[in-house]
Amino acid sequence: MLAITGVSRSFGGVYAVRDVSLTVADGEVCGIIGPNGAGKSTLFNLITGHLAADRGEISFLGHRVDRLPPHRRARLGMSIVFQAARVFRGMTVRENVMVGLHGRTGAGFVSAALRLPRHRRDERLIAAEASSALERVGLADWASRPADRLPIGQQRALQLARALCARPRLLLLDEPASGLRGEERERLAVLVEELRAGGLTILLIEHDVAFVTRLADRLVVLDLGQVIADGPPAEVRADPLVLAAYLGH
Ligand code: ADP
Ligand code: MG
Repeated sequence: MLAITGVSRSFGGVYAVRDVSLTVADGEVCGIIGPNGAGKSTLFNLITGHLAADRGEISFLGHRVDRLPPHRRARLGMSIVFQAARVFRGMTVRENVMVGLHGRTGAGFVSAALRLPRHRRDERLIAAEASSALERVGLADWASRPADRLPIGQQRALQLARALCARPRLLLLDEPASGLRGEERERLAVLVEELRAGGLTILLIEHDVAFVTRLADRLVVLDLGQVIADGPPAEVRADPLVLAAYLGH
């Protein structure tokens, strides 16, 4: 599904991602771990096109995408939830999801301002699609509440709902569990398991190794911008290089 070959990106002469090669198979859940500053978020931004690579190739579903802008890659079927993403304040949960959908259907400002019949039909379709996404992440009962009043765990679920509305084949989640505890963490884990059971391919950045081991088919470890281990979670966790770079402190 995804093939990354020799991708590098530096900032001010310092590599954030250095000569990274990585493939992700259809239906796989791939965990990305590594210390702070290892280049995990940068790698995600290179995959989605929010950052340009200095070198290397990225192919997605057989298309060379490394020169495409983010919206073109999104249209091919990748969707990202950024690290520490925020919900829109002053909007309900459903409106938060609908905002993303407006961009996709082209039910734009002009038809809204003119109150065209097409606009009203599109609004109904969008509301229905938003409701079904909220249902999928267990937020149906919260649809009419102000989004910024949701507990943090449900704000994460809301971001997932927004990402799912794009009907991605590949979902990139950047530390979705950060700040979540106990029951909230557990609910997120179950959600990821459900998405995986539905056949979605997932790249998951996570610093809690136990948590990601439970969810991932495979772990990739980044350190100083480079892949230092890649394989089954049990093997990777026992790798001396990994222990030294990451788990040992
Ligand atoms: P991680 O997500 O693994 O914590 P990041 O990808 O955010 O790491 O950062 C990797 C390195 O690249 C860090 O040293 C960080 O300071 C640097 N970096 C990331 N983004 C930028 C940027 N936009 N400008 C300058 N340096 C950056
Ligand atoms: Mg990060």
